[in-house]
This record gives sequence, C-alpha cells and structure tokens, in this order.
Amino acid sequence: MPKNPFSERIVFAVDLGGTHLRVALVDDTGRILEQHKQDTPQGDSAEDIIDALAQAAERWRCDKRPVVAVSIMVPGAVDCGKAAVVQAPNLPSLVNYPLKDELQRKLGWPVYLENDANAAAVGEMWVGAARGCRDVVSVTLGTGVGGGVILNGKLWRGSHGSAGEIGHTTVDPFSGLKCKCGNTGCLELFASATAIVRMTRESLAAFPETILKCDALTAEQVYDAGRKGDALALAVFKRFGMYLGIGLANLINLIDPQIIVISGGVVNGWNLFADEMYRQIEERAFHAISQQVKIAKAECGDNAGLLGAARLALQD
Ligand SMILES: [Zn+2]
Repeated sequence: MPKNPFSERIVFAVDLGGTHLRVALVDDTGRILEQHKQDTPQGDSAEDIIDALAQAAERWRCDKRPVVAVSIMVPGAVDCGKAAVVQAPNLPSLVNYPLKDELQRKLGWPVYLENDANAAAVGEMWVGAARGCRDVVSVTLGTGVGGGVILNGKLWRGSHGSAGEIGHTTVDPFSGLKCKCGNTGCLELFASATAIVRMTRESLAAFPETILKCDALTAEQVYDAGRKGDALALAVFKRFGMYLGIGLANLINLIDPQIIVISGGVVNGWNLFADEMYRQIEERAFHAISQQVKIAKAECGDNAGLLGAARLALQD
C-alpha cells in the first residue's frame, strides 16, 4: 500500500490582521503545507471577512485534505469559549459578531479563536525556540508589545481572558508618558518600534552630529544608523534595552520561566539592545533564577501565530 502523503489531521489556520489576512494549512506535526496572503477586507461589514475566509478555504477544499478545524488568531481580546472577538481596534466589524456560528455554517468545521500573541507563544513552544519547555513567556516587540504566558505546558489566559499583557505593565510611572490603555509608563512606551521612533525624535536636538533626520523616521532607519555607530541611535537602543530588561526582570521574578522568547521586527536590533537588557536583568531579578532563564530570539518568524493557532485546535 502506498503511504498516504497527507497527515491525518490538518487545521485551516488564519492570521487575521487589520491589514493582511493570511491563511495556511498546518498538519499535526507543525508543517505548513500551503499558505496564502491577501489584504483584509476593509469596511464595517464582518460578512466581507467571512466571505474572504470561505473563499480561501474553498481553494483548498477540493484537495480533499482531512481538515479538522479552522483556527483564527486576531490582534485583540477574545472569548475563546464562544469564539467571539471582544475587543479589536483594527477589526471593529468583528467585535461581538457571531463569528463561530457564521463560519461553522459556511465551512462546516469547528471554529477556534485566539489572541495573536497567545497563539505565537504556543507556536514557539510547539516547533520553535521553546520546544520541549513547559513554562514559557513570549514577548513580541512590534508596533506595540504583546505577550503570551504558558504555564506547565498550558496557555494561561487568566480569569477574564486578558493574561500576558506584558506591554502594559508599568516600567516607569514617573515618565509622564500616557499609554493608550490609560496607564502611565507602560513597557510598550519604551520597548516597541513606535517607542524607538519617539525616543529618537525626543533626543535629536541633543545629538547634532546624528545622521538621522526628523522627517519620516522609522525604527528600521534608527537600527541602520545604530549599526553604523550613530551615537543617537545607540543611545535610543540602550534606553530601549534598559526598559525591556526592567520588564523582563519583573517577569522572571513573577513567573520563573524556563525561557523567554522574544519576537517581532525590533529583534533585528538585538546586538544594539541586548547588553543593556541583560545588565538590567542581572541587577534586578533574583540572581540564582535569572542565571538559569534562557532568553532567546523566536524561530518561527511570522508563522508562530498560525502554527500556535493550529496547535490549539489540534490539542482540543
Ligand atoms: Zn499601556
């Protein structure tokens, strides 16, 4: 008998972002068999998004692959039990929309929903940097700062579904900087791509020799300047590393994880911020513990969330 080329169980995994919609077929060993990316339908109709998902699924349905579920990750707060989006500033049409019923009706598969940072943590534990670990914290440094916590092998969602909001833990209450969450001095205000740009602008006047200009500044440009030795860029990344280190030291003392996995575009700047990050951890976290906690760059890249979403559906 020839061996079945397809795995037994496949998940239709969806990364539903405010800008892009990515779909993938993920098998039960963590392989991505197919993937496709398109723009997320904009506007105030959730049906457009549902239709786009149905069309994407239809493309692969004719392959007769054994799809067992659709598992979606979104940038927002979700009610996993009801598979409903509770809060998602970039996907307003989906908030309180009966996503589960509509998708189940259209696709005929069980529907799972997860927050994107949580899904990424699970993906890294399944086939990425945290393989084989049971206590994992994942930190995503992007436009904002996201986080996911896995305790004893299980995603920790909290009592109200909002655990892991590492970006909104306070690292500098006296900074006077207000976060969009309402708090002052959140980690996200110092350790995100947005923060790199803001901190650079704030210090331009103090570094007249800098090659950076105020116009259309991006975190990428600050990183490039830092690699060339620009003093302003280096100071900004050092400050970034300082606050990130404070945040991670708090996490280490609170959770005592085996590993902290760091992902997101800003990880490119690792060599520019890591020394200061480690220095802060060394200074602030319990020494005997922090010596044993591994801090690693993520390995799954953009696919961590898709893989994690698939894993969560397969585990259920
Ligand atoms: Zn905040």
